[in-house]
Amino acid sequence: MNIKCITVTWLAKADLSSLNSGQGSGNINELKLYSYGTKPYVSGQSLRTALFQTMDRMYEGAIKCIPEAPCGDVENCWACDLRGYLKPEEGTGGTRRWSPLKVSPALGQLPTEIVSDLLTRHSYIEKAEDKKSKDQRIAHVQLTENVYKASIVIDVVNIGRVVEPVIGSEKTKNSMEGWKEVVNIGDDERRVRIKAVLDSIFNLSGFAKQARAATSLAPQLVFATIKKTYNQRGLNVLELDDAGNAKLDLLESALYEAKTLGDEVFIGFTPGIIENEDEFKQVVGENGEEILPVVEVFNRLKAKL
Ligand SMILES: [Zn+2]
Repeated sequence: MNIKCITVTWLAKADLSSLNSGQGSGNINELKLYSYGTKPYVSGQSLRTALFQTMDRMYEGAIKCIPEAPCGDVENCWACDLRGYLKPEEGTGGTRRWSPLKVSPALGQLPTEIVSDLLTRHSYIEKAEDKKSKDQRIAHVQLTENVYKASIVIDVVNIGRVVEPVIGSEKTKNSMEGWKEVVNIGDDERRVRIKAVLDSIFNLSGFAKQARAATSLAPQLVFATIKKTYNQRGLNVLELDDAGNAKLDLLESALYEAKTLGDEVFIGFTPGIIENEDEFKQVVGENGEEILPVVEVFNRLKAKL
């Protein structure tokens, strides 16, 4: 496989929701905020968890352990391979693996009003200690709507592959002599796992506290690249200004850089996500790229593997 790296940056519009809110003091669900408290965000950890929940739902049996008790079997367990793990072991200090998926937080792009919703829950079950009153509970939930931007970088070469340092003998003063490959699942199985990651991004759902809500952060406007060199460049490409316009100078410089380096670019579009749709499409067209439906971007990425 000649591909070193796949980057996927996307925008997703979320309706009034409390994605990734933390448990605040008392009965308040507080949103995580940045930019001096004006914009909401969803942590990279939360995005990563949702990604693996989505994968687990689609590929039954591929994930063989939970993060709290990793099995460490990179060859057979997609979670240990793709999520990475830290596995403490007595005596040796344990083993660890860095994830070959680099996941950004999802950053709300628009300064928006935060709505505080008062939830009351009435129960018909009488309190045991006081038979006269009904049980009533109150909670505040902070809600907001926004357009979120997120990115995932897939380190293609290191999917299903583990290398260990080779340490020299006493005579060479324990110096490192090189690297030894101890696991390599091969390109066919690697393709299967990369496709699973792409499918999981496309179908992304399963966020914390969304058990009863339909909000997801599945891509609606997407900028994906296939690179021959591993890097994490160009992930700011779909940033919006405060009015909801895509920053065209960032788009232009990302397209220029991709063209110069020979990276392949795939742009997927859904109407109603950004304000300056016509100008966005114009810049894409002027740079010789095509506007595709989002599903087509993912189909083309998978076909290139
Ligand atoms: Zn595992």
